[in-house]
Amino acid sequence: MNEPRLRILLIGNGGREHALAWKLADSRLVESIHVVPGNGGTAGLPKCQNVTSVSAEDFPGLVKYAKDNNLNFCVPGPEAPLVAGIVGYFQEHAPAIRCFGPSRLAARMEGSKTFSKDFMKRHSIPTARYENFSDHDLASKHLDSIDYNVVIKADGLAAGKGVIIPTTKEEAQAALKEIMLDKEFGSAGNSVVIEECLEGDEISILSLSDGKTILSLPPAQDHKRIGDGDTGPNTGGMGTYAPTPIATKPLLDEIERTVLQPSIDGMSKEGFAFCGCLFTGLMLTKDGPKVLEYNVRFGDPESQSCLPLLRSDLAELMVACCDGTLASHTLSIWPLSACTVVVAAAGYPGSYPKGTPMTVEEPKREDMYIFHAGTSVSGEGELKTNGGRVIAATATGKTLRDAVDRAYRGVKLIRFEGMQYRRDIAYRALR
Ligand code: AMP
Repeated sequence: MNEPRLRILLIGNGGREHALAWKLADSRLVESIHVVPGNGGTAGLPKCQNVTSVSAEDFPGLVKYAKDNNLNFCVPGPEAPLVAGIVGYFQEHAPAIRCFGPSRLAARMEGSKTFSKDFMKRHSIPTARYENFSDHDLASKHLDSIDYNVVIKADGLAAGKGVIIPTTKEEAQAALKEIMLDKEFGSAGNSVVIEECLEGDEISILSLSDGKTILSLPPAQDHKRIGDGDTGPNTGGMGTYAPTPIATKPLLDEIERTVLQPSIDGMSKEGFAFCGCLFTGLMLTKDGPKVLEYNVRFGDPESQSCLPLLRSDLAELMVACCDGTLASHTLSIWPLSACTVVVAAAGYPGSYPKGTPMTVEEPKREDMYIFHAGTSVSGEGELKTNGGRVIAATATGKTLRDAVDRAYRGVKLIRFEGMQYRRDIAYRALR
């Protein structure tokens, strides 16, 4: 049988993209992966090459590069190109190159928090009560009139920083001013969501969808704060583990019935069927699971824990999502646990140095993985830091305890000056 040979344009430079490239390279369908711009990890993977001659934001340049190099499949990793409409751009200018990802309209589920809250309301998907505002005075009066704790969210993309959880009314008013009047996040703060602050455990579910069917990876838990015991400022994520033991089978069935399938069906009904990976962040409250947010791409670092647990061929699943044939597939998952420990540069999430020399020893075991994020390889082949979240160690194991212990052994293979990481990833589940 003549199988399609995929020559992939993968966009992004994080740990997520290293994990995606690693998993895709393992597929018999995949011939080559061109990563724009990639990092020090993707540079050394089989079938992979980093591409720095074109920028990830330059859609005409990406189309030209893909055509010139006879590529036939595109996987945008991060949200920014999806929200900016890369999928439609490829459909229009290079229809033969299929894209695994949502259209610009479907990407509003992440690109606009006011839009996604209203979407959830229209489809009776459980979420925190809220009001949207585009006028600062009205938002400020509303804040004065309510008597519950709130979370304030800038509407648009704000690099993970647009959600503020104030502890007092004064802090809440200050956050409104910063977002709406001082434009701390630029036009992302033209509107805000003021929503009820929920209490409970948070989980994240990554689901593949072709617009009708959804297949979910094992549920993950993330650690957002920089410090042990969930202290200090928020980050892009300092570690994850999956599957999280708190997400029992009945709970996952409930989430699929009340949240995931209605989300996919709702988007389809509204005329923007979702193709790609839908990331749903949920709070498990005493009144049941409630959606905190949608992301329209693989989570980072969640994908670094979830992809090593996926036994199925990821490229085959991505093609099925694009072809609308996901219903004829199932997900095969290894019966293991996975843990990822992120190693960051000194100073992160504040300002941090770049270009620090580093060494990484290759893990000797098949169940240990080092996924690079902010790293680069110089012309002389020297590995250097190139970002805040620099690199991460992942391991799988028969038990979560095994996976965690092994991931920390993986951290010992990484060396650079000032490296910092949390010592307590998965502590809640191991307690
Ligand atoms: P989001 O980008 O909307 O998920 O928000 C980022 C983080 O803020 C989430 O992962 C939660 O930890 C927290 N968060 C968001 N919304 C709420 C809420 N309604 N109640 C409590 N925490 C929240």
